Amino acid sequence: MTGELSGYDAVAEARSVRHVLDIHWSRICSRLQTEVGEVEYRTWLKQISIGPVDGDEITLNLPTRFLRDWVRTQYGDRLSALWNAELPAIRRVELQVGRPDPVAEPAGDEAGAAEAAPAAAPVEERVAEARGELSRHDMAAPLDPRFTFDTFVVGKPNEFAYACARRVAERPSSPGFNPLFLYGGVGLGKTHLMHAIGSELTRGGQVSVAYMSAEKFMYRFIAAIRSQSTMEFKEQLRSVDVLMIDDLQFLIGKDNTQEEFFHTFNALVDAGRQIVVSADKSPSDLSGLEDRLRTRLGCGMVADIHATTFELRISILESKAAASGVAVPAKVLEFLAHKITSNVRELEGALNRLIAHANLFGRPVTLEATQDVLHDILKAHDRRVTIEEIQRKVAEHWNIRLTDMSSARRARAVARPRQVAMYLAKQLTSRSLPEIGRKFGNRDHTTVMHAVARVTELMERDSAFAEDVELLRRMLES
Ligand code: ADP
Ligand code: MG
Repeated sequence: MTGELSGYDAVAEARSVRHVLDIHWSRICSRLQTEVGEVEYRTWLKQISIGPVDGDEITLNLPTRFLRDWVRTQYGDRLSALWNAELPAIRRVELQVGRPDPVAEPAGDEAGAAEAAPAAAPVEERVAEARGELSRHDMAAPLDPRFTFDTFVVGKPNEFAYACARRVAERPSSPGFNPLFLYGGVGLGKTHLMHAIGSELTRGGQVSVAYMSAEKFMYRFIAAIRSQSTMEFKEQLRSVDVLMIDDLQFLIGKDNTQEEFFHTFNALVDAGRQIVVSADKSPSDLSGLEDRLRTRLGCGMVADIHATTFELRISILESKAAASGVAVPAKVLEFLAHKITSNVRELEGALNRLIAHANLFGRPVTLEATQDVLHDILKAHDRRVTIEEIQRKVAEHWNIRLTDMSSARRARAVARPRQVAMYLAKQLTSRSLPEIGRKFGNRDHTTVMHAVARVTELMERDSAFAEDVELLRRMLES
């Protein structure tokens, strides 16, 4: 049945069709708003603009691919049903990445009008869009649906941060957990945990969450000053239940933005709202941040995400390989976990490349194929740390002589650091056990094996020792 729509077609040109579609769309929107809740609606659906109708299909535009994919999987069917209920002629909804349909603008009637550039947006908006972000009317960045608690693999290095994040997601604004300050090196899961908190909290539709990077915070703030809408900016920020600012270290040296953040922070905490902040260092190490802000940041819960351990890397690889549906042999996972120790992002990147190759060429993943496909990545990682560097750092750390790394002395004071250096050499370089042995005064490979086992065992038993070793590893890797 095409009655209603063809009726409009007969009456009018594109613009009045558009007008009618707009009326239907606004009805659909208010339905959706009550169905999914204000927060979901604002985060996802409000980004939709309607495009042209072609036959029985209407095109809906979303500003980014990420939003398009998310809306398609979560609301695709519902959108089709609602459109069909409004206009029975419409049977399908096509979601695509794009700007609003220029038919809406008063345009000429020539065929090219459909491709005419839309009216110029303010500079800030255009910059934001060029960077794949949302228009400036939306305070928060969308949450990545892949970053949930379920997909976060927990191990020793991140279990505390994970537990704190879960706790905040369950009971936001609990005393002692506000603000939650997550810190750690790059690619270790800070952003993942923040998105997980956000997704968990917005699921019920009751809690409004604003997540943005510190860089975006600054960018919005400056844009607000320029457009003389700082009041609006402040009000918007202060109306949320949970504010999450990622990569706070970006605000170092940006005094005005820091000042603004400080006030927002205080207003929210005083009003019983939750703040979650991430940074690459602990509050006390973030020099360049205003003292009073630093103090307040350290007032709640401060949780460190440590560098990954071999065990955690294996668990992460296993989980991601399983999710991909490609069979990756345990040997390959172990190989990757040994070679790529820097962070989870790189580990994930390497695995993704392997999986893409396997899918593309339909060949099974083998150790040989892995070495081949990841040749460049592995080489870069090999270059990173040398055994000499490890020996030097470890000797410095325990204040022993560098020559004791290869001496025959067996006193605990030198034997233990030597074992740690062997352990780190095994973990951080691609040298074989005999090669490592040779660099430590021509020792046998079984001595190296023993050292690795001993250090692993000690790290499990003695957390202070484990921290020392982790610290060394971090210094060597950075
Ligand atoms: P950061 O913000 O600390 O730099 P991210 O949160 O962006 O790091 O993490 C980098 C990548 O590694 C993301 O794809 C994330 O999903 C993944 N990742 C990090 N830690 C884990 C983990 N424990 N389990 C699963 N994936 C993880
Ligand atoms: Mg991050």
